[in-house]
Amino acid sequence: MSKKVLVLGEVREGVIRNVSYESIAAAKQIADGGEIVGLLLGDSVSSLAPNLIAYGADRVVTVEHPHLKSYTSDGYSQAILAVYEKEKPEAIVIGHTSLGKDLSPKISSRLKSGLVSDVTEIEGSGDSALFIRPIYSGKAFEKVKVKEGIVFITIRPNNIAPLEKDASRSGSVESPAVEITNLRTIIKEVIRKTTEGVDLSEAKVVVAGGRGVKSEEGFEPLKELANLLGGAVGASRGACDADYCDYSLQIGQTGKVVTPDLYIAAGISGAIQHLAGMSNSKVIVAINKDPEANIFKVADYGIVGDLFEVIPLMIEEIKAL
Ligand code: FAD
Repeated sequence: MSKKVLVLGEVREGVIRNVSYESIAAAKQIADGGEIVGLLLGDSVSSLAPNLIAYGADRVVTVEHPHLKSYTSDGYSQAILAVYEKEKPEAIVIGHTSLGKDLSPKISSRLKSGLVSDVTEIEGSGDSALFIRPIYSGKAFEKVKVKEGIVFITIRPNNIAPLEKDASRSGSVESPAVEITNLRTIIKEVIRKTTEGVDLSEAKVVVAGGRGVKSEEGFEPLKELANLLGGAVGASRGACDADYCDYSLQIGQTGKVVTPDLYIAAGISGAIQHLAGMSNSKVIVAINKDPEANIFKVADYGIVGDLFEVIPLMIEEIKAL
């Protein structure tokens, strides 16, 4: 049976995040010919609606309110639940981002629905769709089928390819008035930590350093390599704990989950908690002095050597191209 699917378009600093387009592709598979309704929340987001339509939404609902300018789980859940009541979709798709991870359990508890979180792949479509998600820190995958009630999923960024953009697609945009009241938190100001370069969660190339990098300065060659490849720098928790870099760079079970096309791990042993955040990368290159290091078990290319010799050689070769 075809389904109507509601997809949250996540907006950051006036731009729709890629995971929202990936969510539309996932929604198409669940909808099985049904309608895809995009949802945008913010204080001024209507102008972004054509982007969701170009990537496959049939219709877009925008809720604009001063209290939605910055994300709060209270404000966003009120808006989503109001739209849910009006639209009564049979399925909801949200990105498994920090926002999605915070918001989705709240919505599912209010709707008394199940929640299939962190979906990396969907097999089949419509009622027979099987949702594949990692378990045990990525050591195994489970396949989940939703037998009854609302199909509510969050999808891991960078795993489900978005549909081809088609700017000629058309669809209506509606802006219902929604009351956002009794908020327990009101964001007055957002002070952002300034981060240089490419966003780690969406980077196509990640150069990550571990305790083997040995110091804050030791990260400099990694930054140079990442810049040359148009990528971002990441780190193991070992490197963050040792104060070589900021925790915002941490990749793994308790850090960010990344799935770039190329992941270069330098001076990282490959603990299971680190692998949970990067083992789905398309190509993994590991540089480690210890030939027995666990990271080599998941690496497509392994270089046994000193990262302070290997990375400068890589930089030299890339510059010579
Ligand atoms: P180490 O294990 O010390 O490895 C350093 C590596 O560098 C070694 O393999 C060594 O051979 C190599 N090396 C040293 N010098 C050089 C050199 N000059 N050139 C090349 N190689 C060199 N970890 C995470 O990363 N992310 C998480 O999200 C995370 N969450 C955790 C959650 C929990 C509940 C727990 C208990 C742990 C978690 N950890 C996490 C920690 C994890 O278990 C490891 O302790 C951590 O990943 C180790 O970091 P590391 O590989 O940088 O350090």
